[in-house]
Amino acid sequence: MTALEIHQFTSRGDNYGVLIHDGDTGLTASIDTPEEAAVRKALQDTGWSLTHILNTHHHFDHVEGNEGLKAEFNCTIIGPKDEAGKIPQIDQAVGHGETFLFGNRPVRVIGTPGHTLGEISYHLPDEGLAFTGDTLFALGCGRVFEGTPEMMWQSLQRLAELPRETIVYCGHEYTLANAKFAITVNPENAALQQRMNEIIALRENDQPTLPTTIGLELDTNPFLRPADKDIRRVLAMESATDAEVFAEIRKRKDNF
Ligand code: ZN
Ligand code: FE
Repeated sequence: MTALEIHQFTSRGDNYGVLIHDGDTGLTASIDTPEEAAVRKALQDTGWSLTHILNTHHHFDHVEGNEGLKAEFNCTIIGPKDEAGKIPQIDQAVGHGETFLFGNRPVRVIGTPGHTLGEISYHLPDEGLAFTGDTLFALGCGRVFEGTPEMMWQSLQRLAELPRETIVYCGHEYTLANAKFAITVNPENAALQQRMNEIIALRENDQPTLPTTIGLELDTNPFLRPADKDIRRVLAMESATDAEVFAEIRKRKDNF
């Protein structure tokens, strides 16, 4: 089996689109469709022909291209079963614990509700690859719009259990703003300080800070670190539960 090819591109300002291409079978999937024109351009740039769309959740900046791309390519649209009614042109609804094949490669569905009630992430275990939509960001996590902080914390724990070397793509380039917040709640984290410097340099050169890895997020993303002593000291929450600390970090970020 040849390695999966991956093409990440920006759209709508701070959204990311990602195409994955299986050279063995010729299949190409768009992870979400933030913008029809941007996905079309990415297909032209790569020379790949769209066969699948894998949606993470129903927000417009993740499904905008579904209808137009379906009309042209008649691609198979896979999306979250718990919000299937809000995914335009969906063909196949999938939920937590299910596995389907992309070519000959298994794709595991991880339920990651919180940002929306039905949001899912996609994990390709053989490739060590995950697509986390608006659930896990580099140094951040999605806003809790439809679910509860407890729900989001459970979802993030599911992602945190993936192997550290797992490569993670997500829906937005929010990393610099996330870093500025992260350092306020975890100021003693040397790995975070170093990453902050790397992020500033990347963004000054208009370079993406994604993909990231589960290991890097475990070491530096405060939303995955509510057990951290420094964070608990800053928040004055030494004896709270992890879920409570997570909820407080999320609240502070909302108001940052
Ligand atoms: Zn969203
Ligand atoms: Fe989004």
